[in-house]
Amino acid sequence: MKEIILIKDGELALKGLNRSNFESKLVNNIKRRLKPLGEFKISRAQSTMYVEPLSDDFDVDEALDRVGKIFGIAGYSRACVCEKSVESILDTAPKYLAETLSALKTFKVEAKRADKSFPLKSPEICRELGGVLLERFPHLKVDVHAPDIVVTVEIRDFAAYIRGNQQKGAGGLPVGTSGKAEILISGGIDSPVAGYMMAKRGLSLNAIHFASPPYTSALAEEKVKKLLEKVSVYSGTIKLAVVPFTEIQEQIRDKCPEDFFTLIMRRMMMRISCIIARNDGCLGLVTGESLGQVASQTLPAISVTDSVCDIPVLRPLIGMDKEEIVTVSRHIDAFETSILPYEDCCTVFTPKHPHTRPKPGQCEKAEEFLDIDLLIDNAINGITYYYID
Ligand code: ATP
Ligand code: MG
Repeated sequence: MKEIILIKDGELALKGLNRSNFESKLVNNIKRRLKPLGEFKISRAQSTMYVEPLSDDFDVDEALDRVGKIFGIAGYSRACVCEKSVESILDTAPKYLAETLSALKTFKVEAKRADKSFPLKSPEICRELGGVLLERFPHLKVDVHAPDIVVTVEIRDFAAYIRGNQQKGAGGLPVGTSGKAEILISGGIDSPVAGYMMAKRGLSLNAIHFASPPYTSALAEEKVKKLLEKVSVYSGTIKLAVVPFTEIQEQIRDKCPEDFFTLIMRRMMMRISCIIARNDGCLGLVTGESLGQVASQTLPAISVTDSVCDIPVLRPLIGMDKEEIVTVSRHIDAFETSILPYEDCCTVFTPKHPHTRPKPGQCEKAEEFLDIDLLIDNAINGITYYYID
């Protein structure tokens, strides 16, 4: 039996230009994600997309798995293609859905007739097919309100499609419809989740990681790449900048008061990230900060790191607690990697009593012996780029 994939797009509230941008980005994203699986064709009618495999080896199961991870999709299902005749529909539907129907108790049939010349009207199709299914699967009952399965028949121009329930799509907006931002990625649990959440709102992602060898190891860097691979399943290819941060941390250790180490380190990260963002055409930064989680994530601390940024800093986790974040981390299969025990630069030279309520002007004072411009130049000149997907 020939199968296709039906895709319903999401965010129906979008209108006008936004809507057509949404649709063309979504089609491109679907094409890119399914391309490695073989040849296929995508067509569109109303808010449904039809993915029709053209090569025999096209793996529909793998395709469905991938479609389930593409943002901008509200729902999707596999469907069987059959000849546009009453006999063929009544013959194919019980065969195609046999396994599913055997395992369920209640059903109803819905029919959609795009081709109005089809001899039966929608209620008649429902009645005929309902009768056949009841006969073929005597354990089944009809339930029009809350059936276990809705068997849907669509009569279109060149064929009829038969399907069972839709699966829920990943939701959100197609990646790329909201522009591009830099995710500041550590090896922890939070930042990959933050990247995933912003990709869901339509952002393409670049990534920045600060590494402090020899205090941080090559394994820590590998871990970050592994985490980005997990995010890229949803966001598409990520350009990663690994920024050398050792000199900056050593200078902070040598020239700044200890209780300000973390705040100054974070201000340096933000300054450098803004420059990289601008060079890469990114309109904002994304971090995994969550209010109150650690010393540098109090509102006064966030305010002194924000004050060195001249582009928006998005913090999608700001109001989430750890348990909620961990749920998303597991959902994107990042958690097991995130908890591998490699040092991050944030844990190098951690002060015993970090400042949590810095007042305006205090950080500037604490930084006065740093040659900030030189340190930034050295860091930017030492960047290594990678492409992760
Ligand atoms: P995470 O779980 O993402 O590591 P965290 O709870 O450990 O976050 P911090 O260490 O304070 O919190 O870091 C806050 C945010 O700063 C991170 O979510 C990340 O966006 C960014 N960040 C921290 N360390 C690095 C790093 N080495 N390179 C790039 N960004 C970093
Ligand atoms: Mg961390």
